[in-house]
Amino acid sequence: MSARSTFAVWAGKITTKILKLTGSGGTSLPGKVVLKICPDILRHLAKDMKIICVTGTNGKTTTCHVIRDMIEAGGSTVFCNDAGANMLGGVVSAFVSAAKVNGKVETDYALLECDEAALKSIVEYFGELDVTAVVTNVFRDQLDRYGEVLTTVNKIRAGLEQLPNVKLVLNADCSLTSSLSDLPHKELYYFGVNAPLYEGTSKDISDAVYCIHCKTKYKYHYHTFGHLGGFYCEKCEYQRKEPQVSLQKVLEWKDGSEVVEMDVFGNTVKAEVMLPGGYNLYNALAASAIGHLIGLSDENIVSVLGGLSTHFGRMEEVMLSDSKLHLVLVKNPAGFNEVVQFLIQQRPTGTIVFGLNDNYADGKDISWIYDVEFERLTEAAAGAEHFYFTGKRAYDMQLRLKYADFDTSKFMVEKDYKTLITTLKQQGQETFLVLSYTCMLEFRDKLAEFVPLAKYSK
Ligand SMILES: [Zn+2]
Repeated sequence: MSARSTFAVWAGKITTKILKLTGSGGTSLPGKVVLKICPDILRHLAKDMKIICVTGTNGKTTTCHVIRDMIEAGGSTVFCNDAGANMLGGVVSAFVSAAKVNGKVETDYALLECDEAALKSIVEYFGELDVTAVVTNVFRDQLDRYGEVLTTVNKIRAGLEQLPNVKLVLNADCSLTSSLSDLPHKELYYFGVNAPLYEGTSKDISDAVYCIHCKTKYKYHYHTFGHLGGFYCEKCEYQRKEPQVSLQKVLEWKDGSEVVEMDVFGNTVKAEVMLPGGYNLYNALAASAIGHLIGLSDENIVSVLGGLSTHFGRMEEVMLSDSKLHLVLVKNPAGFNEVVQFLIQQRPTGTIVFGLNDNYADGKDISWIYDVEFERLTEAAAGAEHFYFTGKRAYDMQLRLKYADFDTSKFMVEKDYKTLITTLKQQGQETFLVLSYTCMLEFRDKLAEFVPLAKYSK
C-alpha cells in the first residue's frame, strides 16, 4: 500500500462514518471520495485477492447471494458490494469498508456485483489478478437506460477484454452471452438448462432473434424463457455449447422452491433449490459452477442450494396481520415475464398489486410494460379477487391490464401507500405485490411502519 492509497482508504472510512452519523444512506459517496484522492485505488486494494465478478442483465444480486453462501460454506471469507451499489463508486466503497485500518483487505474473496456498463471501469486494474467472471444473461433492459442488447454485450466485452487471464463462466442458453467466449481467457465454462423449463413457455425471443455473427434467424431445439434455450444458426453454425453445469430436469415445483436434477461437471446431483421461480434456477446453476470451481464438493453445493433464504425485495414474504404478502421486484420485460410465469403457477385467489413508478431507476419511459406478456396471465389470474394499482404510473399499468383483458370490475387504483396497506391488512388475503424498483423502496418504507422489516440495502 502506498501512503496515498492508505490515506484514501482513511478518507473513505471517515466519509462512511459521517454518512452514518447524519443518517444518510449513500453507499457510493465514500467510493467517490476515495477515487478523487487515489484514482487507481483498486490496484492497491485488490492486490493478492481472488476476485469474482458477476454481471449481466438479470439475476446478478441473487447469483451473488448464492455464491457468497458457497464461498462461506467452503470456509473462506468474502465481502460483497451491496445490491444497487454496483457501479465503480459502490465497488470502491465496499473495498474500503472491508479494509482494515492499515489499508489492507484481508478477506479471501472480493465478490463484486458489476453493472454491465460499469464493468470496464471496475476491472481496469485487475488484469494480472485471479479473476472469475460470471455473465448471467443479456436481455433488453428499460430502453432509455441501456439501449439495444448489442450495446450491452459490447459493454461487457469491453470490460472482459482487460482480463486475458479470466476464468469465464457464461450462460450457454443465451446466444448474446455465449458470444463472449471468443474473448481471451484462461478457462471457459458454461451453465445452462438442457430441456424446456415449463409447459407452454413464452417463446418471445425478440431480444435476440438473429445470429450475432451472420444475422440469420436462429432456430431452437427448445426454449426455456425469453430468447434462452437450445439455439443454433444454420448458416454459420454458431450454436449453444454443452454446459459443464446443467439442469437436466425439474423433478418437482414447490411453493418457493424446486427439486431438480443437475449435472455438475459430470456428476448427477439431486438438489432442492430454495429460490422461487424458474429464472432463479439459472442463478443457482451459475453459482453452482462457481461452487465447484472454488473446490466445494457436490454435497456442499447441494447443501447451500437447500439452505438459501430469500432476501430483500426479489421475493420477500411478510405477514401483515392475517395477510400474507409476497413482495416481488420487477425491473424489465424479461424479468417481469418470469414473474408472470411464476404467477401463472401460483394461480392467485387473493389480491395482486401492480406498482409502477417512472423515476430514473425504474426507467423514465414506461412503454416497456407493453413488452410484458400479461395476456398469458389473464386466465390464471381470473380467480383473484382484486387487482390494485399503485405508484406514479398506476393508471398506465391499469390500462395495460385492461388491454390484456383482465376483469376491470376488480380494478382499483390506490396511490396512497398507507391506505393501500391498511386495505390489504383488513382483507386478510394472500397478496402478491409486483413493484418497480423505487415503488418497492417507497412501499417498503411505509410497510415498515406496520410490521418490522429487514433493512433494505439500497
Ligand atoms: Zn450465424
